[in-house]
Amino acid sequence: MAALGYTAPGLICVKLARQIVRARTHDPKIEVVKHPLVAASLAILRAKTTASADFRRALQEISVLLLGQASAGWETVPHQVETPLQSCMAEILARPLVLVPILRAGLGMLDGMLALLPQAAIGHIGVYRDEKTLRPATYFCRLPGTISEAQVVLVDPMLATGNSACQAATLLKSSGATRIQFICLVACPPGVRQLHSQHPDIDIITAAIDPELNDSGYIVPGLGDAGDRYFGTG
Ligand code: URA
Repeated sequence: MAALGYTAPGLICVKLARQIVRARTHDPKIEVVKHPLVAASLAILRAKTTASADFRRALQEISVLLLGQASAGWETVPHQVETPLQSCMAEILARPLVLVPILRAGLGMLDGMLALLPQAAIGHIGVYRDEKTLRPATYFCRLPGTISEAQVVLVDPMLATGNSACQAATLLKSSGATRIQFICLVACPPGVRQLHSQHPDIDIITAAIDPELNDSGYIVPGLGDAGDRYFGTG
């Protein structure tokens, strides 16, 4: 029909609907890492029978894999090196690196990431929910001086309401950060919407997107309280 210069209105609607569905579900700023090792670690982390020691190990392993994926697009610069045989051109990372776990659960992802990037500087941000205002409030913020030139990786296992991540990203930007990625294990749509409504420039890298939040603010099915499970405080 289109070849005859005419497209039936019904067909236009179907095409439009498809485009809208694609636009709603394909967010170019969120990457769900599809990798068998990520899936296997996530299964361990989700299972309520997983003991603390195994939870910690799986969190370390998955953090390495997620950071590997997040770093795939980082800029490099040419760099001459001398091998034992002759000189050759190589590439090195263009920017300093800063990892910023959101306290406390973000700390659980740090060991794995440092195994991959031992040269990274580390910032810390602590955010809690003020029970009177129900707004996120900062109780700790210590960031390295290199933050404005750095590739910054903000880390929190669960992107639930998105309030802590938004608050942390605002703090990073007010300290001069301009290149920020957010790595989590499990995100959910309200958290993704909230982070991207306030910080559309921040890429999210996650192992999964779960459907919803329950009334207590937990991601469902999720994996429970990531901090409690990592620190054994549940
Ligand atoms: N924080 C957690 O640790 N788990 C959730 O499901 C949501 C927020």
